[in-house]
Amino acid sequence: MARRKKIYEGKAKILYEGPEPGTLVQYFKDDATAFNAEKRATVEGKGVLNNRLSEFFMKGLAQVGIPNHFLKRLNMREQLIRQVEIIPLEVIVRNFAAGSMSTRLGLAEGTALPRPIVEFCLKDDKLGDPLVSEEHVTAFGWASQQDLDDMVSLALRVNDFMSGVMLAAGIKLVDFKIEIGRVWDNDFQRLIVADEISPDSCRLWDVETGQKLDKDVFRRDLGSLSDAYTEVARRLGVLPSNVTHAAKPTLIN
Ligand code: UDP
Repeated sequence: MARRKKIYEGKAKILYEGPEPGTLVQYFKDDATAFNAEKRATVEGKGVLNNRLSEFFMKGLAQVGIPNHFLKRLNMREQLIRQVEIIPLEVIVRNFAAGSMSTRLGLAEGTALPRPIVEFCLKDDKLGDPLVSEEHVTAFGWASQQDLDDMVSLALRVNDFMSGVMLAAGIKLVDFKIEIGRVWDNDFQRLIVADEISPDSCRLWDVETGQKLDKDVFRRDLGSLSDAYTEVARRLGVLPSNVTHAAKPTLIN
C-alpha cells in the first residue's frame, strides 16, 4: 500500500491524509490508556472492534438524521471520514452518576440524574481535560453561543439514539463523550459528530446485572476488556451471535 501522510497520532487512533481533499483515514489502534495515559496496555483486537462499533453507531446516527463524519469503512482497522475542524471540547452526556461526576458531587455511582446533563471539558491533556462552564467556552472563544446551543442539541439527540440502541441490547447507557467538528458546505458552516463512538468513550452497564462492558473494565482492573467489547458487539449484532466470550473477535461483513 502506498505510504500515506500521517496527520495526527492520538492515544487510540491515527489520522492519515485521505484519498480526496476534505477526507481523512482514521486508523484504530489496539492501545488502551486511562488516567490521562498514566495507565497503558495493548488489547489485542480492540481497534478492530472499535472500528466496527463506531461505524455501527455513526451509520445509525446518519439514518436518524444526525450528521457525522463517517463516510465508509475501508478495512478491519480503518475508516474514511470527513475532515472537520475539531472544537477543542469533550462533550459529555450523563444519564446516571458515575466516574468524575460521582467523585465531584459525592453521588453514588448509578444514581439516576433528574435529566440528561451535558458537560464540557477542555481538550488539553497537560491540564487533564478540565471541566469548563459555558461562560468559559464563549469568553475564551473555543465556540460561540450558537455553537454551544447546537452542540447541546446534537449531544442530546445522540444520547436519545444511543440510549435506545443500547437498551434494546440489554445495556444501560450511563454516560458518554463525543467530539464535535465544524464543516463547511459552500459558505454554510455546520457542526457534525466526529472522532469515534465506542466502549472506549461510553459507560455501558448490563441492565440486569450491572456488569461493566466499557473502558472501566481496564481502568479498574475488572477483567478482560476484549471480552467486554466483544460482548457489546455481539449483542448489537456487529458480531455473529455464536461468538463466545473466550473467542477472539470474528467479524461478519
Ligand atoms: N471520557 C472519554 N474521554 C475522556 C474523558 C471521559 O471518553 O478523556 C468518557 C468516559 O469514558 C465516560 C464519560 O466520558 O463515559 C464521562 O467520564 P468522566 O468525566 O466520568 O471521567 P473518568 O471517570 O472517565 O475520568
